[in-house]
Amino acid sequence: MPNTPDRYREHTHIADVFAERETTFSFEFFPPRTDAAWKRLLSSMREFEQLGPSFVSVTYGAGGTTRENTHQLVLSIRNETNLLPVPHLTSVCHSREEVWAMLDDYAARGISNVMALMGDPPRDDSGVGCAHGDFEHAIDLVHLIKEYNATGAHSDPRGFGIGVAGFPEGHPATPNRLEEMAHLKEKVDAGADYICTQLFFDNHDFYDFRERCAVAGIDVPIVAGLMPVTSLRSYRRIPDFALGSRYPAELQRRMAACTGDEDAAEVGISWAVEQAADLLGNGVRGLHLYILNRVSVAKEIYRRLGLLPEYADTQTGE
Ligand SMILES: Cc1cc2nc3c(=O)[nH]c(=O)nc-3n(C[C@H](O)[C@H](O)[C@H](O)COP(=O)(O)OP(=O)(O)OC[C@H]3O[C@@H](n4cnc5c(N)ncnc54)[C@H](O)[C@@H]3O)c2cc1C
Repeated sequence: MPNTPDRYREHTHIADVFAERETTFSFEFFPPRTDAAWKRLLSSMREFEQLGPSFVSVTYGAGGTTRENTHQLVLSIRNETNLLPVPHLTSVCHSREEVWAMLDDYAARGISNVMALMGDPPRDDSGVGCAHGDFEHAIDLVHLIKEYNATGAHSDPRGFGIGVAGFPEGHPATPNRLEEMAHLKEKVDAGADYICTQLFFDNHDFYDFRERCAVAGIDVPIVAGLMPVTSLRSYRRIPDFALGSRYPAELQRRMAACTGDEDAAEVGISWAVEQAADLLGNGVRGLHLYILNRVSVAKEIYRRLGLLPEYADTQTGE
């Protein structure tokens, strides 16, 4: 069964959750863009609670494009649900002061974990990213959060727990994969408690990444990111935003046989369930589901994995 803390506890770090749980289950939310979508997401929070995720994370638009909305969603989750929210923070285009103020605010409101990311700079019409910013890479943000923690300003004496990103198929900015692994290790050595991966569709990529992390001496928990394809449109769009990700030939073959969104969702969800079942059978420390705010998708994956109590005898990966 998924394994949420029974109730929301003050000062729970994700590292504490890993210390207690063999496997974590988590979801990623993004701040909705319309009032109707906000209403839909907030009204599905009870159902998300019933799924008992270990934590939920909330994306942040690089450069601050969703700053208010990310903040609002994180606080709604913190104050109105028993879910454990992890806000994403990105470093590009931000000054130290801006990030410090956000940390101050989260600390004052009882948020105890942050996902520290670089973010991809928002492009203007000419395709140019932002011209200012005090940070180069996510590690600079990890350093700043550790500096913040050391001030003792957080009511949790440990300050914020920190997650960072990893890329099983490699991040396009560093074609030299040895160098990339060294940069990931630097983030962990700087104080990251866990790694959450970019979505991937071939578990071999994850297993190899996990082994390469072990060889590099990276010993924090690694959470596997899975995104189910839920429509023909999402199948076409995922490679645009999931930099470097690749559909294996077998998934492409199955998708090529789809004539509409219903077929595509069936193929996409079955694929994600097959991946999840295989990962669970191979000792994954956590599954992070990019379900794009849709509780129905999360429930369907849980159902097929036999993780919903009423479906406890359902075969895994049906
Ligand atoms: C789990 C997850 C969640 C995400 N959430 C968000 C989100 O909410 N908002 C958002 O905008 N984006 C998000 N992203 C996307 C992410 O911000 C981008 O993919 C970004 O390009 C990489 O982020 P990073 O934190 O890994 O950056 P970094 O760790 O800075 O790495 C980026 C690149 O720089 C290289 N690098 C790192 N350190 C150095 C160094 N010292 N010298 C030279 N090169 C270096 C790395 O090898 C890599 O190629 C997310 C990605 C993942 C995997």
